[in-house]
Amino acid sequence: MTTFNELGLNEQLLSAIQEMGFETPTEIQQKAIPIFLNRASDLVALAQTGTGKTAAFGLPILHHLDVNDKSTQALIISPTRELCMQITNDLKNYSKHMRGVKIVAVYGGSSIMGQIKDIRNGAHIIVATPGRLIDSLDRKAMKIDQIQTVVLDEADEMLNMGFQEDMETILAQTPDDKITGLFSATMPKEIRNIANKYLKESVEVSSGKRIRRRPISPINMRWYKPKTN
Ligand code: AMP
Repeated sequence: MTTFNELGLNEQLLSAIQEMGFETPTEIQQKAIPIFLNRASDLVALAQTGTGKTAAFGLPILHHLDVNDKSTQALIISPTRELCMQITNDLKNYSKHMRGVKIVAVYGGSSIMGQIKDIRNGAHIIVATPGRLIDSLDRKAMKIDQIQTVVLDEADEMLNMGFQEDMETILAQTPDDKITGLFSATMPKEIRNIANKYLKESVEVSSGKRIRRRPISPINMRWYKPKTN
């Protein structure tokens, strides 16, 4: 059985994982983390919610983050506001021992001006829903030309919600030399087409094993202040 230590993650991440009570990497984490850490190829991961997929892409992104570089280095696109907040919350927990990491959630149904202000204050990682992300790009509120990693999370859900064109518009604006992770519970042909069109040589992994997600506790949500203007 592989341990988190053997996966090659840095000490700060290992302490956070340990404090969160994660004992061993889940199946998708064991398969995806080495590939994402290695950054030699893109990744297609067939995995549902509850398999530990957020940490599978989140930990390698945090491991490679250069906190002294103020540019946005990673972009995670998720179909819903709830998932966007959940991913942001998880990343904040994983990075609690890393100094100065700025993770910003960008989603619809909340003030765009507040989110733009957050981005301007620095965003190493942006976690966004497609519509609001396009809106922010159109307003020139964020730059994604220095992005090193893009993750499409629940890509099939984004497709079901009519975001295919938005996904493609966003991917087309990111640099060619980035690493892309495409996470999806199912692999319909439209998702396969996106993978063929936008991913370079990719490795495919899958996991059916699920664990239960713990609800976000009010303590973990302390960072989240709804904006009003
Ligand atoms: P996800 O599939 O990312 O939604 O994760 C499902 C739940 O599993 C979340 O509550 C995570 O905090 C938790 N989790 C992720 N990885 C592990 C692990 N290796 N061991 C125990 N729990 C985990």
